[in-house]
Amino acid sequence: MSSKPERLIDEKGLRLDGRKPDELRPIKIEVGVLANADGSAYIEQGKNKILAAVYGPKELHPKHLALPDRMVLRCRYHMAPFSVQERKSPAPSRREIELSKVIREALEPAIFLEYYPRTATDVFIEVLQADGGTRCASITVASLALADAGIPMRDLVAACSVGKVDGTIVLDLMDVEDKVGEADLPLAYMPNLDAITLLQMDGNLTPEEFEKAVSLAIEGCKKIYNMQREALKARYVSVKEVEE
Ligand code: ADP
Repeated sequence: MSSKPERLIDEKGLRLDGRKPDELRPIKIEVGVLANADGSAYIEQGKNKILAAVYGPKELHPKHLALPDRMVLRCRYHMAPFSVQERKSPAPSRREIELSKVIREALEPAIFLEYYPRTATDVFIEVLQADGGTRCASITVASLALADAGIPMRDLVAACSVGKVDGTIVLDLMDVEDKVGEADLPLAYMPNLDAITLLQMDGNLTPEEFEKAVSLAIEGCKKIYNMQREALKARYVSVKEVEE
């Protein structure tokens, strides 16, 4: 666990990793990284390293869980035992069960679930290294893995968190800011549809701060969305090259 620093923003207004308040961590995205899954993607966001793999749509067993009018989306968010400083038990924790649910709910509005009645699609998310904001990075990478699996989508979902540290509204909190800061607000957004699919908040913000935070998070999501699109395009270029 990181020890509590005295301050999270220095006299120049910069954060512990040198970022400005409205700056995202460096992001690297790759689509189509696993040969055996129907779709996959990998993201590094700061020190976060997360893999997502998708299987489906496929027949759902046991059959009584199938829905007559739509596909069932199943999501499993899992943190590897070596993803944090103290070994994490590989068994699913309450937190992972909750995050699996909120990630699924953030992705569902983007998918044409009604196109595949009586089927299921599985999304597996493995956090290999965690440093704050893993639910958001997981949504970003899972939506790319779904697109890579060829699942028809209304839009990609991009996500990032925003919060308040040392009285300042900051974008894309890393672990220590998340833990020590005054507030943390993860947000997922579909830029083309201008729709928010996840909004959670931990801590306190005034109504003005809340509005500022949400606008900043949306701006962050728009930047991430552009990176998602570039990563998807790069995937298609490489597939085409292999075919030629
Ligand atoms: P998020 O990753 O979406 O911000 P949380 O706010 O619950 O979700 O967690 C914040 C951060 O706390 C995680 O990104 C991770 O770095 C750290 N963390 C979560 N679970 C553990 C754990 N079991 N042991 C150590 N650190 C953890």
